[in-house]
Amino acid sequence: MKATLINPAVAWDGLDGSWIRHGIGSIAAYAKDKGHDVGLIDLRRMTNHKGIDWDRYEKEISRSGSQAFGVSVLSANFDYAKECIERIRKVKPDAKIAVGGIHPSVEPEHSKELKADIIIQGEGEEAFTAWLEGREEVYKVPNLDELPYADRELFAPLREQPIGFLKTPFHTIIIGRGCPHRCTFCQPAEKKLFGSKVRMRSVENVMVELMQLKDRYGLNSFLIHDDCFSAFPKYIDEFIEAKNKYLPDVEFYCQARADHIVKRPEMFKALYDAGLRGCLIGMESGSQKILDFLKKQTKVEDNIEATEILSKIGVSTWANLMVGIPTETKLEVLETVDMAKRIKEIDPKAILSWASYTPHPGSDLYTYCEENDLSLVKKSEDYRRYFEPDNPKIKGVDYGFLAWAVSQV
Ligand code: SF4
Repeated sequence: MKATLINPAVAWDGLDGSWIRHGIGSIAAYAKDKGHDVGLIDLRRMTNHKGIDWDRYEKEISRSGSQAFGVSVLSANFDYAKECIERIRKVKPDAKIAVGGIHPSVEPEHSKELKADIIIQGEGEEAFTAWLEGREEVYKVPNLDELPYADRELFAPLREQPIGFLKTPFHTIIIGRGCPHRCTFCQPAEKKLFGSKVRMRSVENVMVELMQLKDRYGLNSFLIHDDCFSAFPKYIDEFIEAKNKYLPDVEFYCQARADHIVKRPEMFKALYDAGLRGCLIGMESGSQKILDFLKKQTKVEDNIEATEILSKIGVSTWANLMVGIPTETKLEVLETVDMAKRIKEIDPKAILSWASYTPHPGSDLYTYCEENDLSLVKKSEDYRRYFEPDNPKIKGVDYGFLAWAVSQV
């Protein structure tokens, strides 16, 4: 069957605006494997400074030759997803539409507003394909090695922008699903999507994908965009051995937790020798009270020590920092500012990526904000997690103060 997937994301500034959407790529690859003809309409390609070119979108819907559409919905894209669906109904009144992704998985009731024919919760490869085929879904948590590689051709021309100091051609990869931690600004959304057990692709499966990427598109660098790659030392040992053997000259970044770096500095030295050049670390706050409130299970000192360890090894730090958190006092914001200054002293090339706390549906802290009537989010786009002090996210936060505080670093 001919089907078209829709990415209702607009091309916001920022790196990830240029990155492939792995969920969409994986669903497309799986359905193609089962004999379906799957295309993509990517709203990011139809956005410019004047906004979204909806005429072009409607023409592409009409030209798609599909009667079945699958819309992947993030909370931040919800309003665009709704409009995408309304316009499909206008152009093709008989079309069938499925919605899936993180928002429908954590907010199925709210997702009824999208007026789709089916709401898919959790991982969508088998569910979407079963829906296309009009059969009952044979649901089992997928063994990631049994899934085909994400279809990157859908996103052609493929130009993923490199993170940090990496060289092009650059690609993002995902090698596992799930996270064992329980940070309140994130969980249990992730567990609702992927279940509570973390699943990793085998190192062999990952290496072959990387080698094929090198062959097909060129590969000078990549980002392991997983939530908790650094949590599995045995896996990492195996990864390092294979990486050194098959792709010794390719550099990469990964996400890592500060406590993992502090606990296993020798593992990060071995990763450096295998090409690791940067780590994205969710440091969040310089206040221990706030880290505990977020159930981050790290210490402020871990954030500092992790930066010192990485800096000595030669790995850049990319610090994700958050301010404007419920219960946070101004002095606690300044503790985060002090920590950020320390990080820059240790590693002058460290990148500080600030966010103003945004209550994300599906997380415990979102529920807390709802129960305490704190949320100021009005339209879905406000779920973006950039630092936007002129776009207040919760009540009781002095955003002018946040802007001043962050400018002190
Ligand atoms: S914020 Fe990161 S470490 Fe915490 S639960 Fe989410 S994915 Fe896991």
